[in-house]
Amino acid sequence: MKKAAARIYDVVVAGGGNAGLCAAIAARRAGASVLILESAPKFYRGGNTRHTRNMRCAHDSATETLTGPYTEEEFYDDLLRVTQGNTDQELARLMIAESREILAWIAEQGVRFQPSLGGTLSLGRTNSFFLGGGRAMLNALYITAEDLGIAIEYDAQVVALEIDDACFKSATYRQSEEEISVIGKTFIAASGGFESNFEWMKDAWGEIADNFLCRGTPYNRGVVLKRLMEAGVRTIGEPTQCHAVAIDARAPKYDGGIITRLDCVVFGIVVNRNAGRFYDEGEDIWPKRYAVWGRLVAQQPGQIAYIIFDAPALDRFMPSLFPPITAPTIGGLAAELGLDPEALERTVAAFNAAVLPGKFDASILDDCRTEGLSPPKSHWAQKIETSPYYAYPVRPGITFTYLCVKVDRASRVLMQNGKPSANMFAAGEAMAGNVLGKGYAAGMGMTIGSVFGRIAGREAGALAARSRSAEAMA
Ligand SMILES: Cc1cc2nc3c(=O)[nH]c(=O)nc-3n(C[C@H](O)[C@H](O)[C@H](O)COP(=O)(O)OP(=O)(O)OC[C@H]3O[C@@H](n4cnc5c(N)ncnc54)[C@H](O)[C@@H]3O)c2cc1C
Repeated sequence: MKKAAARIYDVVVAGGGNAGLCAAIAARRAGASVLILESAPKFYRGGNTRHTRNMRCAHDSATETLTGPYTEEEFYDDLLRVTQGNTDQELARLMIAESREILAWIAEQGVRFQPSLGGTLSLGRTNSFFLGGGRAMLNALYITAEDLGIAIEYDAQVVALEIDDACFKSATYRQSEEEISVIGKTFIAASGGFESNFEWMKDAWGEIADNFLCRGTPYNRGVVLKRLMEAGVRTIGEPTQCHAVAIDARAPKYDGGIITRLDCVVFGIVVNRNAGRFYDEGEDIWPKRYAVWGRLVAQQPGQIAYIIFDAPALDRFMPSLFPPITAPTIGGLAAELGLDPEALERTVAAFNAAVLPGKFDASILDDCRTEGLSPPKSHWAQKIETSPYYAYPVRPGITFTYLCVKVDRASRVLMQNGKPSANMFAAGEAMAGNVLGKGYAAGMGMTIGSVFGRIAGREAGALAARSRSAEAMA
């Protein structure tokens, strides 16, 4: 049964992940009364942010936790490279410029940073790591939000939005058996993408989406995005574009998190169900290329692939939660994996025959490559010849989707006619596709959430303050 709308807030925020918290805190610091509606129960609050480790920000020199400078221009070049130019250049430039101050601002909200640990990602210069990981980062933001007097409702999924002529009026959320409405002077969508809604994923990808795994929260179902689309909000991004990596095929359907990701593609070869290679495993430095592998595996028969490597590679990468499958021979490994042994032996032999001598160095684009092989392996190509042999089965692990609402520099949602909504904003995954038309560079999800969350909160808070003073004058 629908209750009467009782509470009124300056800013209603849908979603309590990084973007929602940054928005809520910025709005509250601007003097607004703020309510966060979070779908998940308290223990699971914070969506995909729980799983994060770092964020990518521009800076001019080394700091206590970063090993060297990462200029705005270099960040922008990286973004252009990974998105192949599929980005709103104005918003991308804005995000990168604002990323320079966001680390200090985040730290002011109680979050602490640490130097990067070793590992395949080698992000010590570009990315700041949260002390204690994403969960600790999130807890710090929640403590600050509570201390500031921000109201938070858990188990509170926003199911309906009342929007009249591009102007937000109220949100209805479901809690236990009740549907409760709240009125807001402004609204901020910070409710993630639709990656955990497999029906929607199947609409976009077809039946193959049944074989995908969702790396993060089961609560990012795209309900708010759908309601905004129904209300005539302009969208940007393709429904099949997303951040997707190869994760262990044995991972759970949701929330497998970072420990199911496999960073060892560059140290071996990747074959499909027919035991054939299908892409250059050594294309680029891992942080700039790891996110292509989910999509590549999605295009393979049965949406499954196998990373094959040998004994010397075993200690070169961060191990996953699951042990690799192993056998003393390539044929034996194929049998363990259910692949045609002769086909895998042929693939490995062809690869080994094409490997040129070089000086192996995992930290740079080294000169170890293949010749005369299609597809090539452009770097880090080393013969797979030392027993025992290993394999990880991998499936597409969807991190977050890019179809989202279009925003302007104030993080304000645009309507289909191109005009900004009177009082609706978006931040984080809910608008990440403005910057990420395709591709990804590690650590950008949190930058997008923090930068646009802060902007959305600041703008919504200021708008609510203007509306309060207009009411007082009336
Ligand atoms: C395993 C993993 C590792 C990652 N590592 C990194 C990393 O190291 N660095 C990085 O930059 N990015 C990383 N990412 C991506 C990053 O998590 C996201 O880009 C970022 O957390 C998005 O923040 P957000 O606030 O937009 O979304 P989320 O953190 O997902 O928060 C969205 C919130 O909205 C809530 N919600 C959804 N629908 C509704 C509704 N209808 N009503 C109310 N609430 C709703 C959800 O419960 C959730 O709490 C990682 C993601 C995963 C899955």
